[in-house]
Amino acid sequence: MKMQFSDLRREYQTIKGDVQRNMERVLLSAGFINGPEVHELEEKLARYTGVSHGVGVGSGTGALLCALMAYDIQPGDEVITSPFTFIATAETILFLKAKPVFADISEEDYNIDPELIEAKITDKTKGIIPVSLFGQCADFERINALAKKHGIFVHEDACQSFGAARNGKRSGGLCHSASTSFFPSKPLGCYGDGGMLFTDDSEFADKVRMFCNHGQKERYIHEEVGLNSRLDSLQAAVLLAKFEHFEEMLKLRRERAAYYTAHISSFVTTPEVAPGNTSVFAQYSIRTPRRDELCRYLNEREIPTAVHYPIPLNKQRAVEKICGLQDCAVSAKVASEIMSLPMSPYITQEEQDMVIHCIREFFS
Ligand SMILES: *Cc1c(COP(=O)(O)O)cnc(C)c1O
Repeated sequence: MKMQFSDLRREYQTIKGDVQRNMERVLLSAGFINGPEVHELEEKLARYTGVSHGVGVGSGTGALLCALMAYDIQPGDEVITSPFTFIATAETILFLKAKPVFADISEEDYNIDPELIEAKITDKTKGIIPVSLFGQCADFERINALAKKHGIFVHEDACQSFGAARNGKRSGGLCHSASTSFFPSKPLGCYGDGGMLFTDDSEFADKVRMFCNHGQKERYIHEEVGLNSRLDSLQAAVLLAKFEHFEEMLKLRRERAAYYTAHISSFVTTPEVAPGNTSVFAQYSIRTPRRDELCRYLNEREIPTAVHYPIPLNKQRAVEKICGLQDCAVSAKVASEIMSLPMSPYITQEEQDMVIHCIREFFS
C-alpha cells in the first residue's frame, strides 16, 4: 500500500470494534444532536485537560469564533496572535471585523515569541491568542503575566496540541480559555468536523455554549445573535472510542518522532521540544534551505510531504488587504524552509526507514 501522510485507514483498523459499537448506539437512539455522548465527552476531556468545563463545538474554527464572541470582540478591537499558523486563527478575528496584530515567532519552537508581544499592545488590544503549534505549547507563564499586567485575555489555539503538557499542566488548561479541533488528522481526530472549548470559568463556558447554539439557552429564546456550531453525537461517539486509545497513540507518535530525529538530525533541522514541554507531534516538521528540492525528491519516490505553512498569515491576501503590511522576518524565513514528513501513530518502521533513506540519499 502507498505510504500515507497521516494513516487514518490503518488507525481505523485497530479501533474499529469500539468505534462501530459507539456509533451503533447513537444510530439506534437517533439522538444525533446534543445526545448523551456529547456531554460524556465534554466531561471526560475537561477532566483530562484539568479544567472544569468542556463545550463541544462544530469545529476548531467554531470554537475560536465562539470564544471571541464570548470575549465580546467588537469591530476595531485588536487581538495579538502568531502569523505562523493555520488561517482560522486570524480569520475568526477578521470575521468579527476586529484586527489581528501579529507578533513574530521564535525560531526554536515556531510559537509566538513572548519578547515581542508587549510592543504590540495598544489601547485597542483585547487579548492574545498564542497558538500551540505542531503539538507543543507556547510560553504561557510569560504570556499570562503580560496579559495580567495589561488587563487583557489569553486564549490558547490548542487545535494541534490536545494531549501536550507544559510544566505539568495540559494544553487547554494553561490560560483562561482554549479551543481544540477534532479535524480527522489532528492528534485526537473524529470522522468529520468537531472541536471543543475548555475553561475553568463557568460563566464564560455558558456564553460559548449559547453562542454556538443560536444565542439561546432555552429553546427558541434567543438572547444574543449566535450561530450553529455544535459537536454532533456521532462525532462524540467516535471520539469517546478513540480517547480510550489516546495515550497509546501519543506514545507511538513520540516514539516515531524520536526515531526520525535520531536518524536525520545531522542533515536537517529537526523539531526542538522546549524545556518543560511535551509534544504530541501533530506534525513532524523539519527545516532545510533546500526545502522545495527535498519535497520534490521525496514525492518522486512516492513519499508524501506537506508544507505547514507556505505563507505566513500577515502575507495572505485576505489578511493583508484589511490589515495592511506587517513584517515578520522569522516567520518568513521559517515558511520558506519548513516541511512536514509522514507521521501517525501507525506509520511502520519500514516506512520511516524509507523516508530516512531517501533524505540521507538526497543530501549525500
Ligand atoms: C486545524 C486548526 C484550526 C481549525 O480547526 P478546524 O477544526 O479545522 O476548524 C485552527 N487553528 C489551528 C492552529 C489548526 O491547526
